Formats: sequence, C-alpha cells, structure tokens
Amino acid sequence: MKNLSVIIPCYNEEPNIPEIYKRLSAACKEFGDDYELVFVNDGSEDNSWYAITRLAEGDNHIVAVDLSRNFGHEIALTAGLSTALGEKVLIIDADLQDPPELLSPMMKMMNEGADVVYAVRKTRKGESFLKLFAARIFYRLLGTLTEVKIPFDTGDFRLMQRKVVEAFLAMPENPRFTRGMIAWTGFRQVSILYDRDERFAGKSKYNFRKLLHLALDAISGFSVKPLRLTFYMGIILVFLGMAMLGYVIWSWNAGVAVPGWSSLAVLLIFLQSCQFIFLGIIGEYIGRVFTEVKKRPLFFIREVKRGNGK
Ligand code: UDP
Ligand code: MG
Repeated sequence: MKNLSVIIPCYNEEPNIPEIYKRLSAACKEFGDDYELVFVNDGSEDNSWYAITRLAEGDNHIVAVDLSRNFGHEIALTAGLSTALGEKVLIIDADLQDPPELLSPMMKMMNEGADVVYAVRKTRKGESFLKLFAARIFYRLLGTLTEVKIPFDTGDFRLMQRKVVEAFLAMPENPRFTRGMIAWTGFRQVSILYDRDERFAGKSKYNFRKLLHLALDAISGFSVKPLRLTFYMGIILVFLGMAMLGYVIWSWNAGVAVPGWSSLAVLLIFLQSCQFIFLGIIGEYIGRVFTEVKKRPLFFIREVKRGNGK
C-alpha cells in the first residue's frame, strides 16, 4: 500500500512527460516519500514509452504501464486505477492543463472529510468557443436525462479515497464515462475551482468525432430516457394522425378536398425522419448491449516496469 498514487494517461505526450514528472514529483513530495506516479502509455506512436521508462530507471516512485494498444483515454484511466496501490489516488492529464500544484489544497479538503475532490474549471485557456458551447449543452442535457449531476466544467482531474476507487473498479461496464461513473458512486464529493492552462506541448487528442462518441456513451450509459422519448413521441404522432384523419373526413364531407400532394409529402418526410432517429436511438442501446454481452477484458497490459534507483 502507498500513501498516494497519481494516474497519468499518456497518448503521444513525449514532450510533456519530463515536465509533468518534475512538477508532480515536487507536488507529491510535500506529503512525504510514500507516493507512486503511474504513467499509463496508451499505445503511443511517438517515444512516450521510452520517455517513461527512462524516468523509471532513475526513480523508484515511477510505475510504467504499457497497454497493448491504444484503448482510449477512459480505458487508460481504468488501467491506471487498477494498477495503483495508493490510499489516495489523483487523476491528472499529461499535458499540464491541470496544474499539479492543486494537489496541496485538494489534500487539505480530503483531510477535512471529503471522499472525492473534483476540480472545476473556473477559466479555460486555449479552447474554442464552439467546444465550450457544445460542452455546456451536453452537460445540461445529461443533467436532465439522468440523476447523476455533473457540473459542466469538470474533467477527470480529481483526488479520490481508496474506497471510491474500489467502488469505481467494481463497475465492469464498457464503454466507460469515468467522471459520470465516479459521480454515480456517491460518497462525499466536493469541488475545488481552478484555472485550466493551455497544453504545455502537443495537440489535443479529442476531436469533434471523439467528443461526440464520449457524449453518446455517457447518455446511453446513464439513461434510458431517450428510449422512453421515442415511445411518447409515438403516442403524440398517433394523436396527430387521428386529427389528420378527422380533417380528411371533414374536407371530404364539405366537398373542399383538394389534391393534397404537398401535405402528404411533408408528412412522409417528417414521419420517415422520426423513424430513422428512433431507430438510431434504439441502435445506440443495442450497440451497448452488444459490447457488454461479449464481456471482453477492458484492456491488456503489455508490460509493467517499476522504477528503480533512488
Ligand atoms: N489520452 C489517452 N488516450 C487517448 C487520448 C488521450 O490516454 O486515446 C490522454 C492524453 O494523453 C491526455 C489526456 O488523455 O493526458 C487528455 O487528453 P487531451 O489533452 O487530448 O484532451 P483535452 O484536454 O483536449 O480534452
Ligand atoms: Mg488536454
């Protein structure tokens, strides 16, 4: 058992690794020497693994975990959490957008009784207006669809007690939406405000497509309300159809029936698009069931290197 573990998922983060190592080590040392830095190499195509193993050669606080391929950020986090031995566990990005120096006030809040201290972004440098706008809409939507309340400016940067990590690891679901799953576990969760910096080096690994996938995984993983919505929409459409029928009979009786191809065409397009949307929603859930019933392991570890040296 360690006092403190830090999980750092890395996908093509070579230029950031020495810097995050330096700043994290300084932040951890404040709480004694009984800590470990778990670097998870998520199938990087650059020399990240080499950079991590170099660190491990000189420092026995390093745990270097090499995944067998790129599994994505969420799974890399789970791999790190299942390797960590700490009584308290910090999750942090490798790109220094999350300042390691926040560990100190987070620890203070934890010692005052919190089980999870999650960091909420007061400001975000270097993010596009569109991304911030989309994030705001997404968290609002997630909030109305589910019972898990996730503040819209929260990432995975958080400090957790061991019991929360165990609760999280007891959830075998796939795909995983880490921040939502941790919020779902309950316990005493408190927030801390911080200013999110720009990336130290390199580019963001999340493009619009990946963010959309994450959003869909989050919604289908936490709510069946979209399925209900299709049912309610169906009922509304039945009433609409009945009203339409009433109008047709009336106009036929009153002798004002005109060749109504345009209204028919509009109706057809409308109903067809509804059907496709509903099929898509159902498909989303079937896809999830498909992934779940296969019960594949979430990840494979190619190698773990524990640091030696001083
Ligand atoms: N990451 C990962 N696997 C991936 C994509 C990203 O481990 O497939 C890591 C990445 O190295 C970083 C963290 O997840 O440490 C967050 O990624 P990024 O900074 O690209 O996301 P953003 O901050 O832009 O949301
Ligand atoms: Mg980042």
